Amino acid sequence: MPQNSQPLDLEEALTRLQQQIVPIHRHERVDLVAARNRYLAEVVDAPLDMPPFAASAMDGYAVRAADWQQHPDGTFQQIGESLAGHPFTGTVNSGECVRIFTGAMVPAGADQILLQEEVADVDGSAIRFNPHRVSETYVRPIGHDMQHGHRLLHAGVKLSALMQGMLASAGVSSVSVCGKPRVGVFSTGDELVDAGNTLQPGQIYDSNRLTVLSLLADDALELIDLGRLADDPAEVHAALESAAAQCDMLITSGGVSVGDADFITNTIQNLGEMSFWRLNLKPGKPLAYGRIGQCHIFGLPGNPVSTIVTLLLLARPALQHLAGGEVSTPLRVPAVTTALMQHTPGRAEYQSGVLSTQASQLMVSPTGDQSSNRMTTFAAANCLAEIPKEAGDLPAGSTIQVLPFHGLL
Ligand code: AMP
Ligand code: MG
Repeated sequence: MPQNSQPLDLEEALTRLQQQIVPIHRHERVDLVAARNRYLAEVVDAPLDMPPFAASAMDGYAVRAADWQQHPDGTFQQIGESLAGHPFTGTVNSGECVRIFTGAMVPAGADQILLQEEVADVDGSAIRFNPHRVSETYVRPIGHDMQHGHRLLHAGVKLSALMQGMLASAGVSSVSVCGKPRVGVFSTGDELVDAGNTLQPGQIYDSNRLTVLSLLADDALELIDLGRLADDPAEVHAALESAAAQCDMLITSGGVSVGDADFITNTIQNLGEMSFWRLNLKPGKPLAYGRIGQCHIFGLPGNPVSTIVTLLLLARPALQHLAGGEVSTPLRVPAVTTALMQHTPGRAEYQSGVLSTQASQLMVSPTGDQSSNRMTTFAAANCLAEIPKEAGDLPAGSTIQVLPFHGLL
C-alpha cells in the first residue's frame, strides 16, 4: 500500500504540486513569430520609446498651438508636408503650417494639429481655418505607448498574440522561452481497443488517451502518444521505467484504484516515490501523483469523466508550472442553480453543467446523470459546477461557484 494515503483536499494537493514541481530549466531563444503560446523565460523591457518621435494622431495641419490660440480665425501659410515615413525636415514658425497625415512625424516648432475638417478654404499655399476652439492637440508624444526601460512582460507569462503584437511594435525580434516539457500519455486496460476495430465481448473503445492528448494540445508542450498498457505488472513496470527516462511528465489513466488489475500505484512505488494517491474529490478519488527519477507521473482515474476532471483541476496546472508558467487559480463565477443538486457532505464535487445568462443573471444547469463513465452528458457541458465539501443537497435557486471551461481549456 502506498505511503501518504490520507485523501487530500484539492487545494492541499495543488499546494503540494506547486512545492514539488520545479519549472523546467531548459531555455531557448526563438523568433518572435514562433513564440506564440510559449512561456517567457526572461523579462522583457521596452528597448526604446514608442512612438520614438511626436506623431500626428489625425490628418490635418501641424501648427504652433500659441498661434492658433492668439488668432483662432487665422490663415496659415503651408510650407510643406509630413507623411508617415516621410517627415518634413524644416521648422514650423509663427503663421506657418505643414500638411500632415496620421502617423507622420510632427515637425519641429509645431505642437498642435488642426484637423482637415476645420479648413474653411485653401488659396494656393494659404490655408484658412474655421474659428473653432480645439481642446486636443492630436499629437502623440514620444513614449506615449511605452517608455524606454518600462517592464513590458514578466517571465512566466504565456505569450499571447496580443503580447506578440506589443513586442513587435517595440522592435523585439526574438525572446527566450522555456523549453517544451516532454509529456508521455498512456492509457491502461485489457478491455480497451482503438476506434475502427470491432468490439469483442467485454471490450470497449479507448477514449481517454485521445481526450487527454487533445485537452493538453498546447504549443508549450511536446506531447508523446505512448499507446496503451496491458493489465500486466511486468509490462507496466518496463514501460513506465523506459518512458520515465525520456519524459519530464507521464500521464496514465486507469489502473489506480485497488482492484486486482490496478498496477499503476504499485509500479510508481516500486520504481520511484509516491507523493499522494487519493483525493477528497468527486469524481477522482483515486489519483496517484509521484515521481520516477526526474520524471513526474500522474496516474489519473480510468472513468472518462474522472480522467477529464482530474486532468483539468490538477494535472494541467501542474504541467503549466513545470512548463515555466505562472499557475493561476481557475476563473470562478457565482451562478444560480436551475435544478436540485444532490450532494452528501464530505468531498468537494465537480458536476458538469451548462452556464447561461437569463435576464442578466448567470444560471447553471447540471447536465443530468453525473455517472463518471458518461461522456455524453459531459460533452454537452460548458462548465464545472463546484459543490463545496461541507454542503448538503442544494435546492434549485442556490448560488454556487462555477468554473467556465473557457477558463480551463
Ligand atoms: P480502472 O480504474 O482501470 O478500473 O478503470 C475504471 C473504468 O474506466 C473502467 O470501467 C474502465 O473500463 C474505464 N476506462 C479505463 N481506461 C479507459 C479509457 N482509456 N477509455 C475509456 N474507458 C476507460
Ligand atoms: Mg483498468
